[in-house]
Amino acid sequence: MADTTTDWHARAKTLKIDGRAFIGGVRMPAAGGQTFECFSPIDNRKLADVASCQEIDVNLAVACARTAFNDRRWAGLSPRERKQAMIRFADLLITNREELALLETLDMGKPISASLSVDVNSAANSLRWFGEAIDKVYDEIAPTADNTLGMITREPMGVVGAIVPWNYPILMACWKIAPALASGNSVVLKPSEKSPLTALRLGDLALEAGIPAGVLNIIPGFGEQAGTPLAMHMDVDCIAFTGSTGVGKKIQIMAGQSNLKRAWCELGGKSPNIVFADCKDLDKAAAASIGSIFYNQGESCNAPSRLLVERAIKDAFVKKLLAHLPDYQPGDPLDEKTTMGAIVDCGQMENVLKYIASGKAQGAKLLAGGAQVRTETGGFYISPTVFDAVTNDMTIAAEEIFGPVLSIIAFDSEEEAIKIANDTPYGLAAAIWTQDISRAHLVAQRLRAGTVHVNSYDEDDITVPFGGYKQSGNGRDKSLHALEKYTELKTTWIRLK
Ligand code: NAD
Repeated sequence: MADTTTDWHARAKTLKIDGRAFIGGVRMPAAGGQTFECFSPIDNRKLADVASCQEIDVNLAVACARTAFNDRRWAGLSPRERKQAMIRFADLLITNREELALLETLDMGKPISASLSVDVNSAANSLRWFGEAIDKVYDEIAPTADNTLGMITREPMGVVGAIVPWNYPILMACWKIAPALASGNSVVLKPSEKSPLTALRLGDLALEAGIPAGVLNIIPGFGEQAGTPLAMHMDVDCIAFTGSTGVGKKIQIMAGQSNLKRAWCELGGKSPNIVFADCKDLDKAAAASIGSIFYNQGESCNAPSRLLVERAIKDAFVKKLLAHLPDYQPGDPLDEKTTMGAIVDCGQMENVLKYIASGKAQGAKLLAGGAQVRTETGGFYISPTVFDAVTNDMTIAAEEIFGPVLSIIAFDSEEEAIKIANDTPYGLAAAIWTQDISRAHLVAQRLRAGTVHVNSYDEDDITVPFGGYKQSGNGRDKSLHALEKYTELKTTWIRLK
């Protein structure tokens, strides 16, 4: 637990931030000296100058990663030895948990309580879990004829490029680097230019944990300047991307235009949350629906942003929803009681406000929120916003907003609910609230989504895969399935006498 007497504002003033890149085990500026300014969305205060890596820096990072891979300083360790280093790495995240949580909150705007209890803990858990798993994964022998041996083994890909977004910065980074490192790869990680600070600390901590220099490299910078050269690089074997669907499509093209590297994309969502009239516990459904859409300021890929409610119970259910809104009003992210923080930056806040304006213009009924608040702080905050009378063709229902905006859509039949739920280019997550077990199974089968929750939302565990159908991407983070993304499958035939 966090020390509830911690004065996070005072700690923020004494925090020393190193914005240099981490390449070959060394902190260094961009070769050309370029930097960008990193601001806090809490109050628009400048936090640091961060290295703005360019192609030359990417090339150096990839060269270091390649050398480390080829000389087998990490890939050549036994799985047990890699496990021990990964567990030390996880332990170091926990030892430095308060510093990392503070950096995350200052950089990205989420409440300090969430950074402490969810983001840093889950990031450490990911490193620990993949570390612990890797010496328990066996290869296969195929059932071939007696005079042959067909060995099926998994080998590390080589150099993995990881490009991650700003909404869960340390967690998204660890969802990539944990399975990639555990399976013996070298990694070049590019964090988002909007929230690069915790990722940079991962480099220092990996080295301290005994992961050899050059195995993990971190290159902060902008998408086109640092991300594109990484995705286009001829000596990167695999690119693991989490971000928007638009950029994900470009990543796939870059992989095809360069060396046909494996390209894994975890992308956006517009997840349907379906409440049937036979739901047994509407209070629980209302609390979970509100909690899940407004958690992390609505900046979650799997946020249930489309709430489909059976018309017979809609008005009663909406009343229950609105009763929870006082619990999600934006507050000071450095106050441990705050449940909703700041939007990541001014540009993202303006995007969200534009979507709110479009909802009003297209005839949706604004029930709550809809405005910037806490303007006196200089930061970027939006009150939790609820629209009723939304139809699925309105822009607020069709496009990913990535902010605290809930759209309520009424339906009259199970068939109609399924049709609306699937009527989206996305397929990341979905939920069904019903007490009819047959309905739960049958509807879950027909929802085109990578994760379906029944009578809950946001169940989460490192042991289960996470990823999307359709334009929400390919591949899966988390669980043993993630190892498939970072390993090549090899067949070795041995002719016996
Ligand atoms: P984004 O696509 O704008 O950026 C993601 C990363 O890609 C950043 O590091 C960025 O610098 C980099 N990038 C941008 N343009 C690039 C280019 N041309 N070449 C190479 N790299 C480039 O996304 P974002 O705004 O940072 O994050 C929000 C998006 O991420 C949302 O769509 C959200 O749903 C998605 N997301 C998905 C998951 C998931 O697991 N499916 C998880 C978290 C976030």
